[in-house]
Amino acid sequence: MTRFLSRRKIALLLFLLLLPAICFFSLKRSTAAENVDSVNGPKIIVLNYHKIDNMNISLSVTPSDFEQQMAYLVQNGFHTITPHELYMAFTDGATLPTNPVLITFDDGYADNYTKAYPILKKYGVKATIFVITGLMGKPGYLTWGQAAEMEASGLVTIESHTVTHGSLTGLTDEQVRYELTEAKHDIEQRLGKEVEFLAYPTGAYNLHIARLVKEAGYKGAFTVRYGNMDRATNLYAIERVPIFHTSDTFASFLERLKFVPLFSHIGWVKN
Ligand SMILES: [Zn+2]
Repeated sequence: MTRFLSRRKIALLLFLLLLPAICFFSLKRSTAAENVDSVNGPKIIVLNYHKIDNMNISLSVTPSDFEQQMAYLVQNGFHTITPHELYMAFTDGATLPTNPVLITFDDGYADNYTKAYPILKKYGVKATIFVITGLMGKPGYLTWGQAAEMEASGLVTIESHTVTHGSLTGLTDEQVRYELTEAKHDIEQRLGKEVEFLAYPTGAYNLHIARLVKEAGYKGAFTVRYGNMDRATNLYAIERVPIFHTSDTFASFLERLKFVPLFSHIGWVKN
């Protein structure tokens, strides 16, 4: 009897010891499986970062946390894409890699070059930076030289976050047109490329603003609404998943990667 009990105890002990490994492998399998909607095609996750530094504020993800996240994406079957690849997939039916992820940074902080860019290069990860053209070269922000160097690498795409970062819904139409066209023109002149996408400053937009964005020649625009995208998404109201610094940033990152499909079915307005 004692012999039987000890065997049971050993079996229980073994099970408890193996439990983390079982959980780890089932988690790995669930994130690697492709997330495809039968009607609207593959889900694309758009991650939204701001600063990569050690400030310990919510908008700042630390360089080590950022590296852990990029390594996770690369090692778990995710593939980073450019906004142009996303556009071609939506309009031309171009094929995207499995588990496509678009990594975006808002505001164009200098740390995107000094802290994030070395990590992007190390893992071969593509990212998009939405710059505020009126702040380029100012303390704490990217210089045009840094933007040009990153753009030339083929890993980083520079896109528009307007001239002054004013909330577009609080401006006159004339001011909105200036913010949109001047920023697009400035980036195109300085970097010798086409600017295709906008990120709405503070996330503020409405249908009228979206129409002005389209008229200014943009092919799409990103909001700060929480969600992921598929073929039913309005290209001028693309939702994103913000990645913040939290008490356990990596756990929050995994949750956000995994729970996006659930969130996207709750209150998701498409038009
Ligand atoms: Zn911003």
